[in-house]
Formats: sequence, C-alpha cells, structure tokens
Amino acid sequence: MRRTHYCGELRRGHAGARVTLCGWVHRRRDHGGLIFIDLRDREGLIQVVFNPAVDTQTHALAHDLRSEYVIEVSGTVAARPEGTVNPNLPTGEVEVAASALTVLSEAETPPFEVEGEAEVGEALRLKYRYLDLRRPSLQRILRLRHVAAQSIRGFLNARGFIEVETPMLTKSTPEGARDYLVPSRVNPGVFYALPQSPQLFKQILMVAGIDRYYQIARCFRDEDLRADRQPEFTQIDLEMSFVDREDIWSLMEEMLVAVFREASGITVATPCPRMSYAEAMARFGTDKPDTRFGMELADVGPLVRGAGFKVFAQALEQGGEVKGICAPGMAGASRKELDDLTEFAKGFGAKGLAWMKVAAEGIDTPITKFFKPEEASAIVHAMGGKSGDLLLFVADKSPIVAETLGRLRLHLAGKLRLIPEVRYDFLWVTDFPLLEYDEAEKRYTAMHHPFTAAMDEDIPLLESSPLKVRAKAYDIVLNGTEIGGGSIRIHRQDLQERMFERLGIGPEEAKAKFGFLLEALQYGAPPHGGIALGFDRLVAILVGVESIRDVIAFPKTQKAVCPLTDAPSPVTRDQLKELHIKMDL
Ligand code: ASP
Repeated sequence: MRRTHYCGELRRGHAGARVTLCGWVHRRRDHGGLIFIDLRDREGLIQVVFNPAVDTQTHALAHDLRSEYVIEVSGTVAARPEGTVNPNLPTGEVEVAASALTVLSEAETPPFEVEGEAEVGEALRLKYRYLDLRRPSLQRILRLRHVAAQSIRGFLNARGFIEVETPMLTKSTPEGARDYLVPSRVNPGVFYALPQSPQLFKQILMVAGIDRYYQIARCFRDEDLRADRQPEFTQIDLEMSFVDREDIWSLMEEMLVAVFREASGITVATPCPRMSYAEAMARFGTDKPDTRFGMELADVGPLVRGAGFKVFAQALEQGGEVKGICAPGMAGASRKELDDLTEFAKGFGAKGLAWMKVAAEGIDTPITKFFKPEEASAIVHAMGGKSGDLLLFVADKSPIVAETLGRLRLHLAGKLRLIPEVRYDFLWVTDFPLLEYDEAEKRYTAMHHPFTAAMDEDIPLLESSPLKVRAKAYDIVLNGTEIGGGSIRIHRQDLQERMFERLGIGPEEAKAKFGFLLEALQYGAPPHGGIALGFDRLVAILVGVESIRDVIAFPKTQKAVCPLTDAPSPVTRDQLKELHIKMDL
C-alpha cells in the first residue's frame, strides 16, 4: 500500500508522524510563497502545505496542481500554527508539511464543482455520476446504505434466515406491473421475464423446506415512472414457514428497531400500531395514513341526510358519502384560496368542495340556507370545529371522497405545518381486501398478488361476494409512505386454483403461467408467509432525502434512461438476427 493513512483520519495525536496520503485535490490556494491544498479521500479532507523551505522541487511541482488531480503526497504531520486551526474540519488541528509529491492522474475541469453542494441539474449529475458520487453527501449515503444492508443481514442471519439467490432470467411473477422481457437466443421465439419480485421462488423455497429465506433482491418493473419509481429497485425480501401474521409483524418490528438504531441512531417505538384497511380508509382516506398528525375525516352523512342540501342528499341517495375535514385556523381563507382548494379537489375527481367557516359570531357558509342553525352546529361539533377553523366537505362516491379528502388532508397539513419533522410513525395496515374490480377489464384482480390467502372466515364469500373477502395481507407504513407489504400465502393447491378461477385465469392459462407452482403445492407445502420492504425507500428515509434516486449509486431518469452509459441503446442487426427479432418501429 502506498498510503499510510486516510486524509480524514489524521488528528493532533499524529503530530510528528511521517505519512503518505493519496487522494484528490479538493481545492488549492496560493499564499505568497506557500501553496495550500485540501486533499480529499473517502474519509475526509486534510490541509497539505507546500513550503519551498521544506522542499523546493515539491513546492515547484505543486504549482501545477488543479482541482480533482489525483496525487500521492508524503510529509510530516504538524499541529497547525496558533490561530489557523479550523474547527469545522475534523482534521482541522493539523496539517501535513509535504516533502514529496507525485501526480498519479491529471483531471479535466469538472462540469460542476465537486466541492460544496452547489445545485446542479440532475441530468448532468447522472451523466457524470462518478463526480457526483465524490461529493461527501453522496459518499455518506452509500456508506449508510451499506451499513443498513449489513444490519439487516446480521439481524436475519442471527434468527436463522438463509440468504438464497433466485433467478434473474425467469418467468413472469405478477406484481401488477409490466415485465421486462429478455429474448432467448438458443430457444427462438421465447422470452424470459426479469423478476418483478422473487415471490414464486421464495414460496417454492418454503416447499423445499428452507423454512426461513431472505434476499436483498433486485426487482424489475416496467412502469411509466411516476414520481419516485425506478425500473429496477431493491427489496428486502423474506419468507417463513409455519407462521402467522403476528410472527412476521413482530419480527419486522425488531428488524426495523435494529436497522434504525444501527444505521441512523434513531429509536423506533414498538409494537407498531395496527389498523385495518377499512379503518384507515374511513379515518384517513388512504391505505397509507400519515399518523403524525390528526385532521381525520369525519363522516357527516347521518347529520346531513335530512337537510335540504341537494348535493349532499343526492350523493347519499346514490350510495355515496358526505365527509369532511377540519382545517384548524383557516377560517380566514380568501375566496381565491377556497377556489384553489376546490380546483385541488377536482383534480381527484370531486365535483366540488363545500365549506363552512367557524367564527365566534356563528357559522359562515354559502350553504347556510340549507341547514337549520342546530343542524349546522351539530356538524361543527361532530367535526371538532372551533372558532377560527375551516370545515371542508366532499359528497360523492366513497372512493372519490376518500381520495380527495385524504389528499386534501396532506396538502393542508403541509401548508399549515402540522407535520412534525423528526418523528417516525410506523403503522401496520391489515385486513386488505383480497380483490379489486377492474372496471376497464371487467374482471377481478388481486389487490396484493394472486398468491395471497384470504381470511379463513371469508373464504366462503369468494364466489358470492368477492369484494367482501379480506386478505391475510398487510403493509407497513412509515409517516404516510408504504415501505413494505406482504401476506400469508395460499398453500393449498385447490385454493390456489380457486383463486386463479376467481381472477378469470382459466385452468389452461394457470397451467401455462403457474403450473410449476400448482404442482409444487401438491408435494407437501407448509403454511407460509412473508414480506418485502422497499430498501431504497427505507434508506432514503434513514438518511432524510426525498428521492430514492439519491440513495441508488447509478439510478435511471424518469424516462428509464441511464445518462452515464446511455442505456438503453441500439444494437446491431446481427445481434437482433441472432435473437430472431425483427424491428417494427
Ligand atoms: N412479493 C411482494 C411484493 O413484491 C411482497 C410479498 O408478498 O412478500 O410486493
């Protein structure tokens, strides 16, 4: 090793030591006869001084140093002279008096400064990701990601889990997205799918008697990249045999406690609260409620049923709902603000937004005439409205009411700064519906995936009232973000076939797509269940960044492009020919 120390590790105690350092020139300053550089490596910065009195030749060489040159420097560590100590730098009490310098690599002027955290466009950052990753903030993230992964591995290893790799070139595992396909050269006309998750393999590992499996697994989903998704992402994927839901929940809670503590020093309170899907939808309008603040949805249907306001009455007659939220202190909202909120609501399909302002002198609302004073006060009371608050109502079909008010709740909480920042509210959302009805395709689809078991007592409803069947499925939500989900699986072949049938997957199709699973279930499958946590999202939360792109070393853009390598890119005619593919563009 050329290097004796990392730049960032030198302290006062090293004074007098001869050291050799290797790293990048972070910054250079000429001060009269002296040349100072900050030398940077993975561990931090150190000031190096080139003094002609120490070595003229070395000093002369240092004149040519530029930012991002890679150098090797030897010299002696010295305490910095009185008054030049830099308290902002861990190495700020010392400097290295250089007596030898080798330039190992010159560098072009970087397209953006590595030094500091100047705002740089993401396209440029991703194209020159190696420069971007030199920044201390991103170095810290990659290291923390590594610590989190090690912490998870350590935790699961200690509990008897076995890490097993499952194939990348495989058959479609439906998780609700489009597959990435890979053509087979040796088998003309057929394709592999990249796994959307290791779901089927992990279940088959349970049939194989592995008992406890995990994998920090790469998954691929070809979706139009909404907000913060990546075409490939990482899951902490696990599966256990002979367990029920509580076993998985408590194990995951312990794991989260460990990883939050080890990676970020954050204390997670356990057990995490549980809430059924139905309750989450009713109280928060979403299946991933942010429980760090209140402003819950109030059902005012029973209170407005008899009143003369047509919009409310009609929604109720048509089987819909009338619900509202109370925005604290917003009674002063201007016409424009109310119009903006109405537009916001319309964006989620609501026809409009009704409002009431609660004031000391009474209730101010354009719909006053439809309510008797005692009816209006009953509504205010039911919603916990106080003088100075603004009540907002949506009357519509239940899903629209939920979505609109759920979004409005988050929007207003942000605006009103109701969300405490440094808080970690975990929540298990349980008892999801097993099925959803897809209006466009006129068929039922699995809400989680087709391998999720129904609650035992609901199985008889599978044919008669499919939407009433609850699943043994659960999500773990943190501060309003779903960070993982899983379920107890179907482990009986007859039930799995029945589920496929319910999903409109006939026996032929089931055999073609999932024959191997159905067959495996015939050879002694243990009851089993598991979960997968989104590792990228988890790390983003642990380091406190918004985007998962910041915690992935080489992420893709919103258009699923890698600006560094330019993937995806054209291939030659010969390559296509070998793959038996003709283009149709
Ligand atoms: N395979 C599921 C998913 O990717 C997780 C699970 O059910 O374990 O969401």
